[in-house]
Amino acid sequence: MKKLFLYAVCLPNDIAMVLSLLVVRLLWGSSFLIKNGGLWVVLKENSKFWDEWTLSYSGVCLGHGGIFASPVKIISVVHEAVHLEQFEVSMLKSFLSASVAFIVCAILCPYKIALMIFLCVWPFGYLFYLISGWLVAFLRGESPYKGSSHEEAAYAIAEDYLRRKEGADAPRRILK
Ligand SMILES: [Zn+2]
Repeated sequence: MKKLFLYAVCLPNDIAMVLSLLVVRLLWGSSFLIKNGGLWVVLKENSKFWDEWTLSYSGVCLGHGGIFASPVKIISVVHEAVHLEQFEVSMLKSFLSASVAFIVCAILCPYKIALMIFLCVWPFGYLFYLISGWLVAFLRGESPYKGSSHEEAAYAIAEDYLRRKEGADAPRRILK
């Protein structure tokens, strides 16, 4: 039930993600994979999908799911699991922010305007979160990608995971 609430809060982003994944699966994918509570497309090994991307990155989280290059590496699964939880946090935050804006606007403005503001804020939580992370890293003089707090966390947790044995001390969020 608690998990269902989380999926509901993330719904606008996940609808767009699933539609995008269907196109990626059709054109460049080899299979679907259910992992970490999300739906992922595994690219064909010789896929021409964003060649540079498949060389440099082996996964991308677009919401409750995303894309993995083939073969799927365990460090990529762990790395993207961190992003998936960050996605959930960002969507809950945008849902709460949009709800407060909706209540205030519903008191002060016509109901339709309040609803429009709600719908303009809520769906974009993850996008704003990623842009903010890149922008803050850039403004602090760091690399926008590697220096962003969401990437630093994902790389650190994934590398830490590889140092440990799989077992009781493995982070609970992954490999479900
Ligand atoms: Zn990442």
